Amino acid sequence: MTHTNHHHLHHPTEPVAAPRGIDHIVAGVSASDGDGVKLTRVLGQPLQKRLDPYLMLDAFGSDNPGDYVGGFPNHPHRGFETVTYMIAGRMRHRDSAGHEGLLENGGVQWMTAGRGLVHSELPEQQEGLVEGFQLWLNLPADEKLREPWYRDIQSAEIPEFTTAEGVHVRVIAGASHGIEGAVRRERTEPLYLDITLPPGAEFAQPLPPSHNALVYVFRESLWIAGSEVPTRRMAILANEAGSDGVLLRAGSTNHSPARALLIAGHPLNEPIVQYGPFVMNTPEQIKQAVDDFRQGRFG
Ligand code: MN
Repeated sequence: MTHTNHHHLHHPTEPVAAPRGIDHIVAGVSASDGDGVKLTRVLGQPLQKRLDPYLMLDAFGSDNPGDYVGGFPNHPHRGFETVTYMIAGRMRHRDSAGHEGLLENGGVQWMTAGRGLVHSELPEQQEGLVEGFQLWLNLPADEKLREPWYRDIQSAEIPEFTTAEGVHVRVIAGASHGIEGAVRRERTEPLYLDITLPPGAEFAQPLPPSHNALVYVFRESLWIAGSEVPTRRMAILANEAGSDGVLLRAGSTNHSPARALLIAGHPLNEPIVQYGPFVMNTPEQIKQAVDDFRQGRFG
């Protein structure tokens, strides 16, 4: 039943008294990955320590099939989790353990690569708009070689609520104002919200000051602590001692609702060594991952 996940109008919210400021605003860099998929790498290797436990955030979106039809053919992962969120279009995935699923518009695939698997991620349509995000969440050192796991969370299974001001919140991971998200993780405590704000509306989200946090705006603009964050920009939030959250306000001159991802988590403070799709703690573990993959030991 879908209605149990949708808490409609006037869901009560807790205030934030000491909101965080912005550390800095990042534009991301254009990149191409998989079989020629054009994307914007909003969070890449230079920001991995700053945004620990997050390793990567890619935004992809195009109405030109040439930018996406190749998709991401078979490739391995080890040592972290991938979270794929489709805003428009569909993505079919298959992995070496025999799992297959179709991620529909509005749905999320949460995959724990653990000790490793090989999979493909391919857009289904040959035309039309495809838009979405892929986030990489690190695993603690002692969970990097755990069994692979994944879940397809269809759109109707994602808990949602709407505030008195008409702000609509989808709770992909963590919890927001008493609404439990679709996924919880104990060590990294990921919070992943998709927030839509009518012009001029405000939304406050409590956050522990030690959690690293980002806001990626992908429709219109948002104001955070007196600074405007334009479309397709990521604000890295300051970790101010004594702060208790973040306050987002949609520009009052926006012509349509602003929309943004708010992503936060508990840092692992462990060494990060990345080689392409492998993210481990030491160069020796990377060498082992490459050897294991070449020897066909990934699923
Ligand atoms: Mn992948």
